Amino acid sequence: MTTNDVEIAIIGAGFSGLGAAIKLRQNGVDDFIVLDRGQDFGGTWRDNTYPGAACDVPSQLYSYSFAKNPAWSRSYSHQPEIHRYINDVAAEHGIGAKTRFRTEVTNAAWSEDDQRWIIDIETDGTPGQVRAHTLIGGVGPLCEPNLPDIEGIDGFGGKIVHSARWDADYDFAGKRVAVIGTGASAIQLVPEVAKVAAHLDVYQRTAPWIVPRTERAYSGAEHWAFRNIPGYQSALRGLVYAANEATAFGLTYSPRALKPVELVCRANIARGIRDKALRAKATPKFQVGCKRILRSNDWYPALDRDNVDLVTDGIDRITATGVVTKDGTARDVDVIVVATGFHVTDSPVFGKIVGADGRSLAQVWDEIGMQGYKGSFVHGFPNLMLMIGPSTGLGHTSMVYMIESQLNYLVDYVKTVRREGITRTEVTEDAQREFNAGIQHNLRNSVWVNGGCASWYKDANGNITTLWPGFTFNFRRATRKFDIAAYRVERGASPVRALPTADETPAGAGV
Ligand code: NAP
Repeated sequence: MTTNDVEIAIIGAGFSGLGAAIKLRQNGVDDFIVLDRGQDFGGTWRDNTYPGAACDVPSQLYSYSFAKNPAWSRSYSHQPEIHRYINDVAAEHGIGAKTRFRTEVTNAAWSEDDQRWIIDIETDGTPGQVRAHTLIGGVGPLCEPNLPDIEGIDGFGGKIVHSARWDADYDFAGKRVAVIGTGASAIQLVPEVAKVAAHLDVYQRTAPWIVPRTERAYSGAEHWAFRNIPGYQSALRGLVYAANEATAFGLTYSPRALKPVELVCRANIARGIRDKALRAKATPKFQVGCKRILRSNDWYPALDRDNVDLVTDGIDRITATGVVTKDGTARDVDVIVVATGFHVTDSPVFGKIVGADGRSLAQVWDEIGMQGYKGSFVHGFPNLMLMIGPSTGLGHTSMVYMIESQLNYLVDYVKTVRREGITRTEVTEDAQREFNAGIQHNLRNSVWVNGGCASWYKDANGNITTLWPGFTFNFRRATRKFDIAAYRVERGASPVRALPTADETPAGAGV
């Protein structure tokens, strides 16, 4: 069995893990390894290849600030272009040579004796081990598909495919299709599959609020300006950021301010659906913003197609040949697409990360709920930094902004550890408790708490542990510097080298 000793191990080669690798390297830290179970970079943008997969955050905001992309073809990017972008950035920074693909982390446990994370891996099925002073969890909250627990699903005789594990070889042409779910993934794939399917039944449990998607191709003049006018793309990015940030006010502090958004959504329904009864079925019954606000121009026209039925009677069971709803109606299909989201607050990954007292993140969070400090550190898990950890999700703007905020924190943490010869860093219970009390306080008037919906933002106890309540620039400010006072640190014979010119190296992540 091979064993690697490194200063830092990064799990995940998506936006967070890659960003961490680049920022570490730019700051003189080269003793790291990136582990990823996939074939290349991209994380969720590599895994979600269903037809129509695209980003609902504007392209200008959906890139690293240090690797802006003047070549985006459209104002909202589609999955293949984002996947390509991430791989191009990785190549530009030479991160491929530091990355071990097709490598699954099967367990990662903190060893007090070694003051190291002992990380068990399997590369193409071959076991190995990595020992690291610091572990960075960059697996993302949307990586483990959630298969619905519906009676009989295992006995279905046709094909079942999850939206996040698309089978490109399966031909939907002429097939009878059931799609379970009407979330962000379903509203993108249904219009595409409906174009070729013989018939498509959409099983809707909760209708989502959907604004129009103002997507367009960039003109040649715009591309010229992105490339040749200094500061033009940064200024545009800043404008888009500011415009999006305004929504945070309504979501967090004053849901009534979202009324205009609701009117836009209602107009979208009226424009897209001719049939009055269908319009009523597609109209949500909770406050806009409580679940993620979606973007689409073709979802409602797709529901209005002659070969598409919107089924709102709950699913009772799945048989060998199709889906039976609670009213007893059986609808036979060839294929069932489950667009039922991800294990977010109950990810199986949490069971594989074991802290100082031998309990896993899953065990600890089962007791206290999914919580940490500044979305990054968790009491009981020394030298572990989570990217997009608890309380960092957003409903209104780009997660890349949050990731880059955490990258500032990471770089300052690593610099501090090196400078001060710190061997063990653990956020204190008090600091974590106080931070989470602040989060819950900020959530109290939010639409997520008061909007009358169930959502994946909530954990099993009904608490919102996934979202950052408020403006993202406050998160940026909170993570600008590593605030060592919130941590219990131990110093010793430092396992890591001191940075040669620690304070002169570039940290900054911008908008
Ligand atoms: P999702 O938003 O969690 O939607 C899951 C859907 O499946 C919901 O409609 C849910 O109904 C339904 N569902 C779940 N279990 C069910 C069951 N047992 N029976 C019937 N229906 C069931 O998942 P997603 O669409 O994959 O999106 C997840 C997240 O990924 C999004 O919120 C977004 O953050 C991200 N995403 C982003 C983009 C993008 O454009 N950037 C695209 C895709 C995904 P209920 O609503 O009633 O629970």
